[in-house]
Amino acid sequence: MGFADNNRLLNVFDLRTSFSADSFALHAVDNISFYIKKGEIYGLVGESGCGKTITALSIMKLVPPPGEIVGGHIFFEDRDLATLSDRDMEKIRGDRIGMVFQEPMTSLNPVLRVGEQIEETLVAHKNISKEESKSRSIELLRQVGFDKTEKKYLQYPHQLSGGQRQRILIAIAVSCNPSLVIADEPTTALDVATENKILSLLKELVSGYGMSMLFITHNLNIIKRLGQRIGIMYAGRILEQNIVDDFFNEPLHPYSKGLLASIFGIKGNEKRLKAIPGSVPRLSELPTGCKFHPRCSFAMPLCREEEPPIREIGNEKWVRCFLYQN
Ligand code: SF4
Repeated sequence: MGFADNNRLLNVFDLRTSFSADSFALHAVDNISFYIKKGEIYGLVGESGCGKTITALSIMKLVPPPGEIVGGHIFFEDRDLATLSDRDMEKIRGDRIGMVFQEPMTSLNPVLRVGEQIEETLVAHKNISKEESKSRSIELLRQVGFDKTEKKYLQYPHQLSGGQRQRILIAIAVSCNPSLVIADEPTTALDVATENKILSLLKELVSGYGMSMLFITHNLNIIKRLGQRIGIMYAGRILEQNIVDDFFNEPLHPYSKGLLASIFGIKGNEKRLKAIPGSVPRLSELPTGCKFHPRCSFAMPLCREEEPPIREIGNEKWVRCFLYQN
């Protein structure tokens, strides 16, 4: 895999994030590599506990202790975030990288007016006056879909619906015109109609601002709608990386095929949904060899002994599976 490419905004290379206890370490993110190009939405998809949120927190350098990055690189705008000090990282968070998380209520300050919360980010990172930051905040409220923006500016989080609070978080995330936004399950707590509106808004903002986005979700349908490229994560590893259209036409990894069959049905028989047997392994009880082998109907003796390496399948596609080794 080549990693030197001017078109790549974020280059995560062999990243490993572990949680250590007295005598052992659990590798929540285990040597993953992926990149995000300028202006694209990259979907990182996996079931709960697969390591996708720890990946996002690693990029932001916000992994809670005892977790820590123990290996690899996170190249972003000519710097390796993995080696940056907390102080330098604080300048990047909120300014060059915006964040939108799942629970807007816990991410917002309940005793501060929402307009002031947008302003706080602007004032922290941009050298602008109080008047400028207020008018920019009101403009951001308009951009994320509010009318009566002067009134909205004065409201508190509890006076807003879940969807409106998520719009406020999105306004904060894009307020400093970041080059990357990390969205971690931003619509999971919302009803379907509100989710649709928020997804449309995110898509508009990405193209309007020329940003890139790392979109983390368990929902393949969202990436089908929004994303250009996709990574499938399982047990702390990325098992497949693909172009979104190709992935939905012809997924490579047996786990990807299982995920699609469980959502869209078996090809040619859309109504027959097929669940993947078994469940996601705990980090403390990972199987030997390929981490998917206990659930894989194609497993061979080799799969129980060795972990498959990455195999490139074509331009921007690769897979970790022995079925593709020859
Ligand atoms: Fe299945 Fe083996 Fe491929 Fe793993 S390496 S996905 S067990 S065929």
